[in-house]
Amino acid sequence: MSNRLDWVQTELQALKEAGLYNQIRTIGSPQGAWLIVDGKRVLNFCSNTYLGLANHPNLVAAAKKALDEMGAGPAAVRSIAGTTHLHVELEQRLAKFKGVEAAITFQSGFNANLATIPALVGKEDVIFSDRLNHASIIDGCRLSGAKIIAYDHCDAASLEAAIKDNLSHYRRAIIITDGVFSMDGDVAPLPEIYEVAHRYDILLMVDDAHGEGVLGKGGRGIVDHFGLHGKVDIEVGTLSKAFGVVGGVVAGNAVIVEWLRQRGRPFLFSSAVTPPDAAACIAALDLLESSTELVDRLWENARYFKAEMKNLGFDTGLSTTPITPIMLGEAPLAQQFSRALFEAGVFAMAIGYPTVPQGKARIRVMISAAHAKDDLDQGLQAFEKVGKQLGVI
Ligand SMILES: *Cc1c(COP(=O)(O)O)cnc(C)c1O
Repeated sequence: MSNRLDWVQTELQALKEAGLYNQIRTIGSPQGAWLIVDGKRVLNFCSNTYLGLANHPNLVAAAKKALDEMGAGPAAVRSIAGTTHLHVELEQRLAKFKGVEAAITFQSGFNANLATIPALVGKEDVIFSDRLNHASIIDGCRLSGAKIIAYDHCDAASLEAAIKDNLSHYRRAIIITDGVFSMDGDVAPLPEIYEVAHRYDILLMVDDAHGEGVLGKGGRGIVDHFGLHGKVDIEVGTLSKAFGVVGGVVAGNAVIVEWLRQRGRPFLFSSAVTPPDAAACIAALDLLESSTELVDRLWENARYFKAEMKNLGFDTGLSTTPITPIMLGEAPLAQQFSRALFEAGVFAMAIGYPTVPQGKARIRVMISAAHAKDDLDQGLQAFEKVGKQLGVI
């Protein structure tokens, strides 16, 4: 018997002992306020369907129509035969929605970052990156081969200090930050970061995956939220969260979008999203453009839930958005908390290292416009019960 995979078994065992092993649950129903998870009906507190669009009848109908008219698969990468009229329409509509010159879509937000960063910077260049940026930004930065300099989280002064010390040693530079930080729910100080980018004439890129459909007027995102139209060169977004479907987008400067069509490797070397995906995203845009009702309800729900959790004595960290972390500390406690919630009919996953730093494990509750007030109240009761049972509150 060969031993060459023994190390994997050892590592897996270590994850289990540290409370960091992902027990992946299986969903047996469409996304909504309630789900069938591992055969049990539970309140959904962990999907990213901020606006309840993943199973919205308009999106489902649009996807069905596209399936009938255009088929199931793209059969090619975008740059060969995979660009249908639906992809073109989606990109035009996204650019209009975001109020930017142009937009290009990818198979995911993750791919949007992997496409964009290496297309803009390389070995002779430098990236100034918020210390808590998303994994897909970190991977995109590594892939580029550029020097990566992390600045303190959401700290424009730390960013400026890093720029002063380093900029002159490199050919080109880019500043990259998450818009809304996915594990803490705090928002990047984009106006201050823009001031720094402008002062040093450096490209500015923001990944607004959790701000798309959430922040700004009718969900137009972080740039709209701060009134920074025309000032952010690259706005990365996802169609997989609030939009309820799947895909990524880069919106902004037309020259950059044109460049990404030529040099974005996931665009050139990985097949397009399917016609039903693109059609469903267009239907999501129709809804977002027709009314702010869903976005308003999302925020109403989030404010209510967070205020009540604080009243119960829970620590919801730094969040100022519908992402609600319940800070618990050690990973095994977070896992135990999540299991007890599940027993009590609430699906809310524990998140530990390496997704968040060691000792900062948490339950992350994702509030949605799909939740009714009754749903939120049932969730609060379960949190109170489990919190008391485990001595957290
Ligand atoms: C979720 C997320 C992504 C990835 O988006 P997908 O469309 O799911 O690939 C990228 N960046 C950030 C900040 C995210 O939170």
